[in-house]
Amino acid sequence: MTKDKGDNQFFNQELETMQAEARENYYLEELKGIIDHAYKNAPSVRKKFEAAGFTPSQFKALQDLNKIPILKKEELKGGQSRNPPFGGYLGIPMSDLQRIYVSPGPIYDPEEKGNRRLREARILQAHGMGSGERVLVTLSYHMVPAGLLFDKALREAGALVVPAGVGGTDLQVQVIKDLQVTGYIGTATFLMNLIQKAEEKGYSIPADFPVKTALLTAEGVSPGIRQKLEQDYHINTWQGYGTADIGLFAYECKEVSGMHLAEDVYVEIIDPNTGKSVESGETGEVVVTHFNKTYPLIRFGTGDLSYLDAEPCPCGRTSPRLVKIVGRVGDSFKVRGLFVHGSQVREAMSAISGVAKYCMVIARSGNRDELTLNVELENQALNRDELTPKLLQRIKEICGLKANRVDFVDQGSLRQDVKPLIDNRDWE
Ligand SMILES: [Zn+2]
Repeated sequence: MTKDKGDNQFFNQELETMQAEARENYYLEELKGIIDHAYKNAPSVRKKFEAAGFTPSQFKALQDLNKIPILKKEELKGGQSRNPPFGGYLGIPMSDLQRIYVSPGPIYDPEEKGNRRLREARILQAHGMGSGERVLVTLSYHMVPAGLLFDKALREAGALVVPAGVGGTDLQVQVIKDLQVTGYIGTATFLMNLIQKAEEKGYSIPADFPVKTALLTAEGVSPGIRQKLEQDYHINTWQGYGTADIGLFAYECKEVSGMHLAEDVYVEIIDPNTGKSVESGETGEVVVTHFNKTYPLIRFGTGDLSYLDAEPCPCGRTSPRLVKIVGRVGDSFKVRGLFVHGSQVREAMSAISGVAKYCMVIARSGNRDELTLNVELENQALNRDELTPKLLQRIKEICGLKANRVDFVDQGSLRQDVKPLIDNRDWE
């Protein structure tokens, strides 16, 4: 549950500045509470605990967490498809929900009645996205939680929201000018597209494009683009990190020295090969436990690779920081802000006859993610012009994204065990 202790508008500020011992005790109490709640209320969590020989009474210290197996995203997805919508992971009665979100997979995420997204509100307000600001939200408002999540959080923070959603660059640029929008939430790529469009239209920046703060999220941001936004366009940028299932739970402060963890999650960095915690400062999978009774995800493996910095931050917050996301475990990647799973590519290709091997490659061209589907045919005599639109159509249907092109490669070019999806982007 989001804390709402009323000391400052959203949280007791003491939580953010707890010293090490207090923080450890705080995590211990919160973890005890959520582990117990999940065990009693979410049947699949209970089953998972029991299979591992774990009962909540065994949780006495933080290191006892490793007695609980990690919940993989694929496992959550599998559980949900066998037993929709939540696969036994819901922690409150269905009648207490107000929305169900649908993320790619599909993965279903519950939202309880009265949900206010206070955690994100506090983070936004810390960056000046509060009263007196007009903020354009360019994340999707349908199916997935992103758009509505930030919409709610901004309103709680006191800002005026322009619910723009995805696409329509031309109109969005006009809206920014007409409404004198001062804040932006969305991907860095789309913000660059908006700026480019504004320049094409002969707008003067900042008079006709008064955006001064941008929360960049849903995809990696290259330092080059960030520098351009900051130096050439005088837009303060900050990054947030989260997942559809949990929301935004790590965020940069003004020191820009990694992303502070929010106070209602406990994050571990786990070696994906051994399943054990890595040494302090080493890279591993971000595994998060959310202190949320609605959807008590315990040791949820995000599939993202990162490392933690626990050194004190000059801003005064004492929570550890995720330094940066360095990649994905396995074969799920974010493309243009949406997750694509290797299994989706496999599913798409399974329905097309005549294809021997395939591999979809993600690359970066300018500010855009480009998808190229490499295909090896069983029979070189097959009509490629007929096959290409079928392949593109199928990818669009299953993955929800357009591939840029299909490349037919020579027989034997792709390895026998080639992965269905490969990320060749370089975020450096
Ligand atoms: Zn800080």
